[in-house]
Amino acid sequence: MASGNTYFDDMWTNLEAMDPPRNEEMLEVSEQVNDPAQNALKPNLTTVSSVRELLECPVCLNAMYPPIHQCSNGHTLCSGCKPRVHNRCPTCRHELGNIRCLALEKVAASLELPCKYQSFGCVGIYPYYSKLKHESQCVFRPYNCPYAGSECTVMGDIPYLVAHLKDDHKVDMHNGSTFNHRYVKSNPHEVENATWMLTVFSCFGQYFCLHFEAFQHGIAPVYIAFLRFMGDDTEAKNYSYSLEVGANARKMTWQGVPRSIRDSHKKVRDSFDGLIIQRNMALFFSGGDRKELKLRVTGRIWKEQ
Ligand SMILES: [Zn+2]
Ligand SMILES: [Zn+2]
Ligand SMILES: [Zn+2]
Ligand SMILES: [Zn+2]
Repeated sequence: MASGNTYFDDMWTNLEAMDPPRNEEMLEVSEQVNDPAQNALKPNLTTVSSVRELLECPVCLNAMYPPIHQCSNGHTLCSGCKPRVHNRCPTCRHELGNIRCLALEKVAASLELPCKYQSFGCVGIYPYYSKLKHESQCVFRPYNCPYAGSECTVMGDIPYLVAHLKDDHKVDMHNGSTFNHRYVKSNPHEVENATWMLTVFSCFGQYFCLHFEAFQHGIAPVYIAFLRFMGDDTEAKNYSYSLEVGANARKMTWQGVPRSIRDSHKKVRDSFDGLIIQRNMALFFSGGDRKELKLRVTGRIWKEQ
């Protein structure tokens, strides 16, 4: 691993620069602990944040979880970074050995910290060791941008993502729970995975994403339309939707439950949880000379009782 060496060269430099401030933090903790008057007045807030800093791995800066390691001089290190430092303490460069820092692990167990999505509205406070698990399921955790095909990395709450879809992806926004949409593509033989459309609907005080796209399924290209709910799965289940496509006295209908945008666009598509139109049928519905794809999709969203 040649690249690993370069990484650690950078890290040595950073750590040397960081050393003095860390010693100050340690002093701060002992001052707090030895001052009962101050502890009684302020319910350990300063102590908690100092202990929290002690629990930050000096290498990756992530919170440390057991087993927490230390060198013979007492510098700590997380278990993820330990195998990567070639048995040298990254702080003092002495041999690292195999010493576990049980005291710090126990101090961590007594800590209670707010969920990291506090600024998104979560008021939960969790013991240090169960905080991660909560955060992985916290209903206030931000959503990924639901726009398909662009590998967009934007995250946020729903109002933020709605504005982002409108401003940055130029997505069509519609008010109301019924729709009538025409999808036209001049060369239906060019079917690639990246052919997709997204429309956002606003109704019942909620937002829904209507996806329409062509993708290659085996050797046959197919079209799929499906709806996703901009919110959590538990709430998505309160809604249903129907889609209909047809022409020449034939029609196909689909009724389903919108999937939460917590499920990736690809996951929903690959599970065929939507209106699937085979290419032959799509061309038939398009009429004309099969040179143009012209589908009219109508739909409705409603709230279940
Ligand atoms: Zn680390
Ligand atoms: Zn050390
Ligand atoms: Zn939370
Ligand atoms: Zn985006």
